[in-house]
Amino acid sequence: MKLFLVFTLATLAFAKRFDGDQVLTLHPTSSEHVITINEMEEFADFWRPDSPSLVREGSPVDVRIPREYLFKTKRVLAAINMDFEVKVNDVQDTIDHQFTGTKTPYAGAYDYDVYHTDVEIESWAFDMQSQYSSLLKVETPTKSEENRNIVRLTMGSSQNNPIFLIDCGIHAREWISPAFCQCFVNRMLSQYNTDANVRSMMDALTFVIYPLLNVDGYAYTWSDDRMWRKTRSNYGTVCTGVDPNRNFDAEWSGPGSSSNPCSDTYYGPEVASEQLSKELSNFVLSHTGEIQAYLTFHSYGQVYIYPYSDAVKDVDNKQEHNDIAIASAAALEAVHRKQYTYGPGYQSMYLAAGGSDDFSKDFGVPLVYTIELRDTGRYGFILPESQIAPSCEETYAAVDVIAQHVMTKL
Ligand SMILES: [Zn+2]
Repeated sequence: MKLFLVFTLATLAFAKRFDGDQVLTLHPTSSEHVITINEMEEFADFWRPDSPSLVREGSPVDVRIPREYLFKTKRVLAAINMDFEVKVNDVQDTIDHQFTGTKTPYAGAYDYDVYHTDVEIESWAFDMQSQYSSLLKVETPTKSEENRNIVRLTMGSSQNNPIFLIDCGIHAREWISPAFCQCFVNRMLSQYNTDANVRSMMDALTFVIYPLLNVDGYAYTWSDDRMWRKTRSNYGTVCTGVDPNRNFDAEWSGPGSSSNPCSDTYYGPEVASEQLSKELSNFVLSHTGEIQAYLTFHSYGQVYIYPYSDAVKDVDNKQEHNDIAIASAAALEAVHRKQYTYGPGYQSMYLAAGGSDDFSKDFGVPLVYTIELRDTGRYGFILPESQIAPSCEETYAAVDVIAQHVMTKL
């Protein structure tokens, strides 16, 4: 245990630090404001929306400003009369406090209330398979660019039921997402024999779950840069990484994505250039007609987004998407009073081409949601571990509504 502590401290000691960085919420109300925000791209880290090109008058913008640019930035904001407030006062301090400090090395008993490394998540998956061999199959169908396993779980009393597809961790820094996939899998397996509701879903559906799709990016957020979002591939350019959620075959290279390899929304050298996009795309394409629903978990914002995001157009079953989002959000809110909004991507978020959600809808999945988990910006990507358990509890209720709706259609 002591060795582990030393290792953890050593790892953190080499990681990029964010002392004094702040996250500001800006309130642009004129085209001049929007232009000024666009000009901040050189030094600012856009949290929400995730690209300066998506900034609009009247919509708030969360952006991390490195300490050395804070004074100048605030002076410029004052000069052009743009309202703003400080959302995160010290990013490094918030990172340091995301952990509860009670983490012990993983040795059998898994703690779902803490964040785990990619290595721990992979061993957890195989341990779950040993423990629940009749309900869970673990596969590693694809290697990442850095030669890690992309883990795929197939869960249910049969592997041949209609598929309910879930992925977590497409974006590296959104840690609550893979944390949710882990607690969800544990809940479905450990309560199969005691909870009739869980059992009915596990008997009717085959859950296919990628608990950590962007495994390289996630590993990098632990070792080097907590704020990393993209993959870790490099195609001979000065910057590393592709935004995996701009890399799918859905109006690829279109609005809300960037050709600049240094951008956080870089769409990559070609469609599905990234190993994780290839894996997910191949799975969807090879199970046409079998996948009944697809949920992809991100953070943050507390939003249900349904297609489309790659253009201002609606899905054929918009009413169904909207009705189920309303019912799901109501069930979620009943647990811990957290409110989620909902709507088509082009309306509830912003235009963003190349997403896994639009791709899946285009290639035959009838019901598709991107779910942006907690919070609404107080902690943003640095959600403290104390919020993992309540996030899990409320999101179980949310997923149940969608799964039960799918079951009524079978
Ligand atoms: Zn995301």
